[in-house]
Amino acid sequence: MAEKELQTCVRCKYVADKEDRYCIHCGAPLKNKCTKEKTLLHKGCNKVNKPDAKYCADCGTETLFSEWNLI
Ligand SMILES: [Zn+2]
Ligand SMILES: [Zn+2]
Repeated sequence: MAEKELQTCVRCKYVADKEDRYCIHCGAPLKNKCTKEKTLLHKGCNKVNKPDAKYCADCGTETLFSEWNLI
């Protein structure tokens, strides 16, 4: 049986399931997504960046972790 993939919360170090989007212990986001939002003119950017990325590698917009002051 394959081992379950896990991810660690950057704020409280809680080990969460890979599919979880937010930490169930502290509410911090677990995926470092780009914060560029969808507008009428732009389709937005949903890139999931590396956990230590302050800015999106695709478009240079601030990432979710940076916005939450997690990194
Ligand atoms: Zn947490
Ligand atoms: Zn982006």
